[in-house]
Amino acid sequence: MKNISVFGSTGSIGTQTLDIVRAFPGSFQVVALSAGRNIELLLRQMEEFHPKVVCVQQSQDIAALEARFPAVEYLSGPEGLVQMAKLQVDVCVMAIVGFAALAPTLEAARSAKSLALANKESIVVAGSLLLPEVAASGCKLLPVDSEHNGLFQLLEGVKRDQVQTIVLTASGGPLLRRPELALEAVTPEIAIRHPNWSMGPKISVDSATLMNKGLELVEASFLFDYPGSRIEVWIHPQSIVHAAVWLVDGTCLTQLGKPDMRAAIGHTLAYPERLPKVIPKLGLDQMAKLEFMPPDETRFPCLRLARQALEKGPGSLIALNAANEVAVCAFLEKRISFPKIPQIVEEVLGQNWPAKVENLGQTVELDVAARRAASSFFG
Ligand code: NDP
Repeated sequence: MKNISVFGSTGSIGTQTLDIVRAFPGSFQVVALSAGRNIELLLRQMEEFHPKVVCVQQSQDIAALEARFPAVEYLSGPEGLVQMAKLQVDVCVMAIVGFAALAPTLEAARSAKSLALANKESIVVAGSLLLPEVAASGCKLLPVDSEHNGLFQLLEGVKRDQVQTIVLTASGGPLLRRPELALEAVTPEIAIRHPNWSMGPKISVDSATLMNKGLELVEASFLFDYPGSRIEVWIHPQSIVHAAVWLVDGTCLTQLGKPDMRAAIGHTLAYPERLPKVIPKLGLDQMAKLEFMPPDETRFPCLRLARQALEKGPGSLIALNAANEVAVCAFLEKRISFPKIPQIVEEVLGQNWPAKVENLGQTVELDVAARRAASSFFG
């Protein structure tokens, strides 16, 4: 029986994590849940999983929860998330979206036995702070992102000097098969309709702009310690090959499976063991048509921008992420058009950002400055 805490339990990754807990009774005990504003779903989760600690985004939401579950310890806001991250659990699942996950992620790296990290933004903005924390505490960092989870599994089986390049695949998102569609005409409804994965709104838009793959490129660079030049990105619309590793002898190892996040989540929850039948097996005939093509970085410049930021260093990565979060939020609120997202990111990235970032305080300051810069491009 492993004790687990789930940050962002009401989101796409959070609910799929709880699907696995539900499917394997006796294997996992949920000790803590955190949610944002979806209190109705949180109440149902508390009823089913009986956490001892619960954190919500806004303290005024606690009263309704306390009335139903008086024995639970309640926390709230960013400070509450950090408090919850201090719990010494077997697995901490970090599935809050965006920069808000950074401080609890750093704390969980100090306290949890293993950190199942879905939140990619925290490693993008603070990979150089997070990895030393992980190394110092001995916490096992397990990537939940399906491509990185696949790479993690592949790289466990090979020696580093046998690796030539590592490969991330990208579905291409909802706009891949729609070259006729003017990007100006892309609405939030179109952008979040992902062909293969059911995900939260922010990552869905990132997937449509290819920023998701840009963030993942940076994530892979930090997690596996390869420069951007040794990380290939290929569009693969079927999302069956999640990751690949080219070896020096000219052969390739791949990790394949049905596009279902529960495979990667289950791997991180059970690691180093494996859970049986987490997702249905694919017949080889279902893999008869696997397509791969290079990304169109002219129509979708975000991948190029992320590569640039990775080369420039941590300050630029913070600026990239902050500008993107602000622009995606404005797009979802219909305040800016779809092509404005990469334009804003490029403008902000073009400003002066430090090559070195020493600590969380400086990271937060730069994030605030980059958000302010990004917001100045619309009303
Ligand atoms: P969702 O938007 O579906 O869920 C986000 C979760 O975070 C919700 O529980 C939300 O609460 C909570 N939350 C949001 N903002 C705050 C905040 N300021 N403070 C506290 N809690 C907050 O996102 P996803 O599950 O899609 O993604 C989560 C992370 O995982 C992202 O970083 C994403 O990039 C990454 N990821 C997601 C994948 C996917 O398939 N979805 C795949 C790979 C990585 P509430 O809803 O209650 O307001």
